[in-house]
Amino acid sequence: MEVTRSRADALARAREALETALGPAQVLSDPLSLALYARDASMVEGGCALVALPRSVEEVGACVRVAAEHGLAVVPRGSGTGLAGGATPIGDALVVVTTKMDRVLEIRPEDRLAWVQPGVRNLDLANALAPLGFTYAPDPSSQQTCSIGGNVATNAGGPHCLAYGVTSNHVLAVDLVLPDGRLERLGSEAPEAPGYDLRGAVVGSEGTLGIVVAVCVRLTPLPPDVRTMLFDFETVEDCAATVSAIIASGVVPAAVEMMDRGIVVAAERFAHAGYPTDAAAILIVEVDGTRGAVEAQARAVEAAARAHRCRTVRVARDEAERALIWKGRKSAFGAVAQIAPHYHLHDCVVPRTKLVEVLTGTCGIGERYALVVTTVFHAGDGNLHPLLSFDRRIPGTLERVLRASEEIVRLCVEAGGALSGEHGIGLEKRDFMPLAFGAEDLAAQACVRAAFDPEGRMNPRKVLPDGARCGDFAMARGADAAEAAAALPEGAWI
Ligand SMILES: Cc1cc2nc3c(=O)[nH]c(=O)nc-3n(C[C@H](O)[C@H](O)[C@H](O)COP(=O)(O)OP(=O)(O)OC[C@H]3O[C@@H](n4cnc5c(N)ncnc54)[C@H](O)[C@@H]3O)c2cc1C
Repeated sequence: MEVTRSRADALARAREALETALGPAQVLSDPLSLALYARDASMVEGGCALVALPRSVEEVGACVRVAAEHGLAVVPRGSGTGLAGGATPIGDALVVVTTKMDRVLEIRPEDRLAWVQPGVRNLDLANALAPLGFTYAPDPSSQQTCSIGGNVATNAGGPHCLAYGVTSNHVLAVDLVLPDGRLERLGSEAPEAPGYDLRGAVVGSEGTLGIVVAVCVRLTPLPPDVRTMLFDFETVEDCAATVSAIIASGVVPAAVEMMDRGIVVAAERFAHAGYPTDAAAILIVEVDGTRGAVEAQARAVEAAARAHRCRTVRVARDEAERALIWKGRKSAFGAVAQIAPHYHLHDCVVPRTKLVEVLTGTCGIGERYALVVTTVFHAGDGNLHPLLSFDRRIPGTLERVLRASEEIVRLCVEAGGALSGEHGIGLEKRDFMPLAFGAEDLAAQACVRAAFDPEGRMNPRKVLPDGARCGDFAMARGADAAEAAAALPEGAWI
């Protein structure tokens, strides 16, 4: 009883301090808001104590200081579209939402860079750059909603990252509010900053090192010519083999996306993109560059598809048809709601040459657990998205989904793959980390984390499994236990 009262008092004091710093409207503690911010777009649900919506760097600093004073963990959050539970809070956490910091601060085409606040939506940035002849290349399929801060924190990918590279290649610098409230600039406007690449450490750190409050992004010129093609196949094997053949031909298209029949049917019903719903699988391939380069690449791509028995070749005739083809792909995850009310999505990466083997294995796992498995993915870089559709209200279903998921992850890792291509590790996959990393690797990662956040206050229990400890690194390197413990900052458990 006493404990409960003192916790409630501490939360009330924290709320009061936040309301003083941010204004009452920027602090939420009603049950509905707490429930809404208790999860992201993944399956995992948590709970939080308070939600803050800062509008400036100073207010973000105030949030982390109040959290530190009152013993609250801090969970940074953008738009909440994450698919790994990265923004899902656990326990007595303060969720710091950056969506109100949504201004493009400056665009400098002559320097090929722009400074943006973290809450700017990905598509809004691309739209702001387009009239100037530029774009921001990473284009997650969630780009209408997801924030640049969230993209940086997850090192987001997207259909066009095959040729242009994922987020890390497009971030020159970040301003970071550290867990103690200090503001640091990591990286610089110059492309090659000297010293350790701490900017690189923050990209993909999933909110565990601090809160990103400004991002300097690299601008990519819009290509002079683009061609979008759609190929359909009678077998998944031919479709997947075409992907390897395209890359082997020396062409690196701007995008290569594969969708199997289940996804095609769902996406077609939603987007009416003219997808062939009787095909076993389809490929969307986009090539860009100068007119001559586009011609040559398109010929090579079509030859690879025909060599693997593609049934038809559709080339978008204009921008409207191109947009329609992409609309079907980019709305695929939403469209699967027609199959079942819930889905669980993976994003393991496998070597392209293992695509057929892993896809077949994934379907087998689905059959054994009586689950509908469909796939839509960035095939060019082997970034699989097996999607399990289900209704969690049916008793026992969630357990089957979780068991099937574990088998899918193991299958991908055994095929030489990685745990995540773009969604991150978050809460969902942190217990799988030992499948991919040894104890020494995990402890080394814990040391990086402890260097930024010695008290383990920033997004705790994410990314690293329980027990990954900075001191273990020293021990693995030969130091004795006492020496290793002495090297540890107080409370450096992650
Ligand atoms: C329909 C759909 C399609 C998707 N397609 C893709 C895709 O093609 N490619 C892809 O990579 N992802 C995709 N995603 C996943 C998701 O959109 C990305 O991971 C995105 O980058 C998350 O951005 P967000 O603003 O929603 O971040 P959130 O979900 O709010 O947070 C994600 C992580 O970033 C951290 N974070 C957020 N903001 C900050 C900040 N300012 N400072 C520090 N840490 C922060 C959070 O703590 C959390 O760990 C998709 C999701 C959906 C629902």
